[in-house]
Amino acid sequence: MENGIPTLSQSYPMSGGDGPHSYTRNSSYQKAALESAKAKIKEAILEKLDLENPNPKPDLNVYKIADFGCSVGPNTFDVIQNVVEAIKLKHQREGTKGGNNHKRLELEFHVFFNDQPDNDFNTLFKTLPHHYHDHGVFSCAVPGSFYSRLFPRNSLHVGHTSYTLHWLSRAPEDVSNRNSPAWNKNSIQCTNLVEEVTDAYYQQFKKDIGAFLEARAQELVPGGLMIILGQCLPDDVPMIRTWKGVVTDMIGDCLVDMAKSGITSVEKAESFNLPIYFPYFSELKGVIEQNRCFSVEIMEEVKHPMEEMTLSIGFIVSKYRAIFHGVIEEHFGDGVMDELFDRFSRKLAQCPIDFKECQKDMQFFISLQRIVD
Ligand code: SAH
Repeated sequence: MENGIPTLSQSYPMSGGDGPHSYTRNSSYQKAALESAKAKIKEAILEKLDLENPNPKPDLNVYKIADFGCSVGPNTFDVIQNVVEAIKLKHQREGTKGGNNHKRLELEFHVFFNDQPDNDFNTLFKTLPHHYHDHGVFSCAVPGSFYSRLFPRNSLHVGHTSYTLHWLSRAPEDVSNRNSPAWNKNSIQCTNLVEEVTDAYYQQFKKDIGAFLEARAQELVPGGLMIILGQCLPDDVPMIRTWKGVVTDMIGDCLVDMAKSGITSVEKAESFNLPIYFPYFSELKGVIEQNRCFSVEIMEEVKHPMEEMTLSIGFIVSKYRAIFHGVIEEHFGDGVMDELFDRFSRKLAQCPIDFKECQKDMQFFISLQRIVD
């Protein structure tokens, strides 16, 4: 917020449609991580979702679930399916307790798919699982930045977000400012090698995640759950030592090469910084624990099932193209993607990533419960 007016968050949608470069077809890496957290999400809902005591008491026939930063699917559909099944199971179990008459009521679900307005919601809704309505699941889109309020007070029972909160509302200004000690001259990302750059990114991350939690705290009913999955760094591993850090720098090198060849300008290449920050685990823990509206029920590492795998060049190129599509086109204009990712593919072939040499990043799972005031 600036002077009480919410600051506009910039928007960098994943690649839309369902073509070969789409997020739909190139999000299996994220899907694999979600799959490995599925049981944890179910368990969190079964054990911690506590809607018996909130004030005001919600209508327990209708559960409201939101996926923040849902993109185009299919991952969001799996997430929703899992949450719906967990709530149904919980209801079945608790409906059997004496004196509780919820069991007689048929459950219905209102599902809200949130992402930035220029997300490809058309593809999302065209590919929505057909059986939703048969299972009492009704859905709608909620376009807007999750760094501000998106829902009325006390209106959600379960919030979910995965692989989203490393996307900052914007890249910190100083990292593109030549006169600042935080000028990120040699990279397009926070490599964690320059203290001032890291600090500028961390300050932005702290502000953004604070705004996210503040908004969700108002939207979730007391006793409701906010589930967060994502990627961070072990405390002693700078981004540039991970394979993801290495490939991101390679993409930056390709942009510099393209500027040298006159395909884009040097000024554009130099001023480009990704609005992405992967916090160290202790930073993330600190920011989460600072909030006063949620109790931290679970905060732990989840092993990524593909962590030990050597990924093919094709897989890496497609994954990064689908993710960086929006942010790169926004800065460099359209028409650079084919050239950039051809160059990136060739660079990867010339300098293959040694996955065994790289250090591991971390996937985290957090379950927060809205405190009953
Ligand atoms: N949750 C999905 C998609 C992750 S990709 C999955 O796990 O596969 C990250 C998504 O977050 C993108 O669709 C991007 O548009 C969205 N996003 C990033 N910043 C956002 C913001 N401020 N508000 C809403 N959505 C945002």
